[in-house]
Amino acid sequence: ATFSNLLTHPLLLQRLAQLKYESPTPIQLAAIPLVLAGKDLMAAAPTGTGKTAAFVLPVLQLMAQHPRPLNEYDKALPRVLVIAPTRELAQQLEASLNQYGKLTDQKVLMLCGGQDNARQRQDALKGCDIVVATPGRLYELMNNRILDFEALQCLILDEADRLLDMGFADDLQLIIKRLPATRQNLMFSATSSEPVRELAAMIMPNATALGQ
Ligand code: AMP
Repeated sequence: ATFSNLLTHPLLLQRLAQLKYESPTPIQLAAIPLVLAGKDLMAAAPTGTGKTAAFVLPVLQLMAQHPRPLNEYDKALPRVLVIAPTRELAQQLEASLNQYGKLTDQKVLMLCGGQDNARQRQDALKGCDIVVATPGRLYELMNNRILDFEALQCLILDEADRLLDMGFADDLQLIIKRLPATRQNLMFSATSSEPVRELAAMIMPNATALGQ
């Protein structure tokens, strides 16, 4: 199979050709059609399998198919929220989103602890299409009404097992409770432990499971 069997957005296909990606990995083959169909997904996929592109590519295509929502000040409202356990992973995700989306026009905002708080607030107020964040800083900015997720369409939890291992279960509950109830949910985890399955069952009881 080729990416042109999976994706239709010409700028994404052009970008994949630039990156010299020849064929989709198994997780990409399985996940991309499901994400494009709007399904919730629980995927057991370790790093190195191409799991990032498996959700980033279809999400970027879905975003390109609809105009960006704006707030009353004409600032972009985020449509996609990616939550990751660590600053390092959030930074990698930001880089991947910008890499795959280079030719499309989606603004990514990365928020994590250990970075200038005032600066992140200012950046958040400028608007963005995609937020990538660690749970602590995200919850703080949501509490201060700096981030408005009223137009959110898709929630992605990356490395869900590590999010739980690091003790973010309560933060995640509080964050997710404040998101629009009608949205797509994608969860990726290297391992599929009981706590991960419980989190998935709570957030998205009808998710399709991929991998073991
Ligand atoms: P990930 O599992 O998302 O961390 O990706 C692992 C590495 O594989 C990254 O460096 C990607 O750039 C690369 N990659 C992902 N998908 C493909 C693909 N279909 N063909 C070639 N390289 C890929």
